[in-house]
Parts: sequence; structure tokens; C-alpha cells
Amino acid sequence: MRMIIMGPPGVGKGTAAALLCNHYGIPHISTGNIFRELYKDQTEVGKKAKSYVDRGELVPDEITNLIVYNRLLQDDAKNGFLLDGFPRNTDQAKALDGYLAESHIKIDAVVNLKAPDELIIERIGGRRVCETCGAVYHVTNLKPKVEGICDKDGGKLIQRVDDMEATIKRRLGVYYSQTEPVIGYYEKKGAVIHIDGTGTIEAVNALIMKALGE
Ligand code: AMP
Ligand code: ZN
Repeated sequence: MRMIIMGPPGVGKGTAAALLCNHYGIPHISTGNIFRELYKDQTEVGKKAKSYVDRGELVPDEITNLIVYNRLLQDDAKNGFLLDGFPRNTDQAKALDGYLAESHIKIDAVVNLKAPDELIIERIGGRRVCETCGAVYHVTNLKPKVEGICDKDGGKLIQRVDDMEATIKRRLGVYYSQTEPVIGYYEKKGAVIHIDGTGTIEAVNALIMKALGE
């Protein structure tokens, strides 16, 4: 299974993606997670990306596209993958198409998660991530067993700088102006699976599975 999950920031892509990747046994390729890891490892590209990430702006395509190509070349992505957070504008979508055509591979499904802005703002505001492994939690919808502590590795749960209120609005603006058109781009090429992302994690997951014929 090769798929792309789309939708505004905070709609629950990462959470749905983790379940899908588990189901299909495919790697979860999240460009946002890759940028955060590159920064944590103090790499030059990570430092460069951070200035954009913290402001809620898109990291330049030259950097982002290369990171994705390199990731797709790794062994675990040979038989399938899920892209989360990429492509985020139509130029990235075109670049991805070029790469896939050269590699003779095709995307099997594009899933678009939808939710109204008020819900997104509420979800992002309550989001907490593990400082160590990046696992995602929510103060009311997806609580860790012990408050403030990651279930997986005991890491400290923190709020991402770009999840703070001032930046959320900018990220939504970037989403509507640059990322939403990508859905139209894929619609012209074939079917996009639209999913109501307003329900619980389990409900959203069930809708996606049903739509994928699982
Ligand atoms: P996310 O974790 O998907 O919300 O991504 C966090 C941030 O990483 C975004 O706000 C962007 O600054 C950056 N980012 C992630 N994916 C991309 C992409 N495909 N193109 C450019 N910037 C990206
Ligand atoms: Zn953790």
C-alpha cells in the first residue's frame, strides 16, 4: 500500500497515519517528524528547517523534496509507505509525481481528512508530544497513562512551539492557500477519499478502513 494522508494541521493525520501504518506494515513518513528529528540531531538542514517550522511556514521545496526522495529510497519503503504532511503544495505534488514516474511506482490511495477550523484549533491547542520519540497525545482526547509522561519511553510531554496559538492561525492560512489546492490536483488525477475527521480516533479510523475496503 502506497498512500498519502492529507488534511489541515491538527486534524488528526498523524494519529490516523500511525494506525494505518500498523495495519499495513508500512513506514510512516512524516516530513514534520523528519524535520524535528534533523533539528534534534543538530544537523545543518535541521537548523535551517527549524526557522520555518517555528514560524508555521513551509520549509523550501528544494530541502523538503530531497528529504522525501532520500527517505523513499530506504529499504523499508520499497513495498509501501504512507506520506503524512507531504506534498504540501502543488509544486511538491508535481515533483513527487516525477519521482514516482521515474521509479515506476504509483500511489494507491489519497485520503483527505476534514474538520472545521474551531475543532482544529482546539485539537492543536491540546496536543502534546513526547520530547524523546515524538509520540502524539492530547490533553483530553488521547491522554497518556501518567500525565505529562510518554507511555512508550517515559519521555517528557511538551507543547510544540508551532502548536501555540499565535502560530496555529498562520499554519491554517498556509494550509488553505498552499496545501488545500493539492487536493484538487489529486482529484483531477483520480479518486480522493474524503473522510469526516470530526469523530473520535476510533471512529475516524473505522471510516478510513471502510473507505479503503478493509
Ligand atoms: P507537521 O508536523 O506536519 O504539522 O509539520 C510541521 C512543520 O514542518 C510545518 O508547519 C512546516 O513548517 C514543516 N513541514 C512539514 N512538512 C512540510 C512540507 N511538505 N513542506 C514544507 N514544510 C513542511
Ligand atoms: Zn516517547
